[in-house]
Amino acid sequence: MEYVDQVLAAVKEKNAYEPEFLQTATEVLGSLRRVVEQHPEYRDAKLLERLVEPERIITFRVPWVDDKGEYQINRGFRVQFNSAIGPYKGGLRFHPSVNQSIMKFLGFEQIFKNSLTGLPIGGGKGGSDFDPKGKSDNEVMRFCQSFMTELYRHIGPDCDVPAGDIGVGGREIGYLYGQYKRITGQYCGVLTGKGLTYGGSLARTEATGFGVIYLANQVLTHRGKSLEGKKVIVSGSGNVAIYAAKKAQELGATVIAMCDSNGYIYDKDGVDIAVIQDLKEVRRARIKEYVSARPSAEYHEGFRGIWNIPCDIAFPCATQNEIDLDAAKALIQNGCWMVCEGSNMPSTLEAMEAFEQAGILFVPSKAANAGGVAVSALEMSQNSLRLSWTFEEVDQRLQGIMANIYQNMSSAAAEYGKSADDFVSGANVAAFLKVSNAMMAQG
Ligand code: GLU
Repeated sequence: MEYVDQVLAAVKEKNAYEPEFLQTATEVLGSLRRVVEQHPEYRDAKLLERLVEPERIITFRVPWVDDKGEYQINRGFRVQFNSAIGPYKGGLRFHPSVNQSIMKFLGFEQIFKNSLTGLPIGGGKGGSDFDPKGKSDNEVMRFCQSFMTELYRHIGPDCDVPAGDIGVGGREIGYLYGQYKRITGQYCGVLTGKGLTYGGSLARTEATGFGVIYLANQVLTHRGKSLEGKKVIVSGSGNVAIYAAKKAQELGATVIAMCDSNGYIYDKDGVDIAVIQDLKEVRRARIKEYVSARPSAEYHEGFRGIWNIPCDIAFPCATQNEIDLDAAKALIQNGCWMVCEGSNMPSTLEAMEAFEQAGILFVPSKAANAGGVAVSALEMSQNSLRLSWTFEEVDQRLQGIMANIYQNMSSAAAEYGKSADDFVSGANVAAFLKVSNAMMAQG
């Protein structure tokens, strides 16, 4: 049996109850066949076996008291997956679906994504099954304080630097940071995504969404195309979706649909992003309310229907596995010719296969959404330097990083991919080469 297949079989046996982790491991290892064949020393060093096993998983109890005075208990996680190229770096996700499989899939993806940024950051992820939806500010604060009361002993500015993800935005990072500082007395860059008045970086809020569009733009420009006049769908309405939609419209695209977990809106004249921002960032309301501000738009229950709308380019920016085989087929049938992933692993393996067979220009999330963590790394640099760069400076660096990712991803695709447009293999291989080199060098 080939080395990759051997490792995959063992991964499947050992992690049988972790479907999301198995999905990413299957996708990544599958694309490393050629590069691993050329490096027999990896097999001798059991490099792939090491890569798929997290260096450390911390699971902990998070007790807190709700507004009614009742005790609540949640489960907290931090997966410190790989520190070969730098301190563990990756977000915290607060969502009821969080479990070890989801933490491991996100942590594994983070290793490759972080490597692609070209910056010295390893892969990690954390979170809790706590649901911030419907909780008061005080409840969220008490939860965050309890979460950090355990987490603080496992993290630090030079060993593990968490940030936000789904359910963790500026408010949560503020509460978490306050508690870290209260316990340790350290004012430092232990978290990124901080507020601008206490060490945050300009353009961090925008970075993931802007980065998705910068990379899409690179791919298009190198093919003599552009976003100008294109009809695009941006699923989701959180931090990634909002800033992807904003930048896509700035570059001339028309965003015709967005969604939340309840349903989607269709606004053929172009979604008014300011309305979405007000709904989601200020009022924390449902997307359904969009139609009160824009009566010409339509609202439909059930978010999956969004993929039945004809478009040129789809930017899935909501959550994992939001595009299944049916959604992929609908997109292809309705003329979509490019998919650029903003959320982590939004396409199922079957959907990815359908896109490949249909010749869809497909840009995987590890490359496309790396802008967020890249600017997090720039926040770490600014914290260490004790200074702040301007918005333009950070944005310029972000554009440079995304252009660099394009170059690395496409040259690895040309060398190791099924075709020069096989960006899935390109991104995985380019990221893997750096991490594997560091792992081998460190023994
Ligand atoms: N949660 C984001 C991601 O999936 C950002 C992580 C970070 O900034 O550390 O990459």
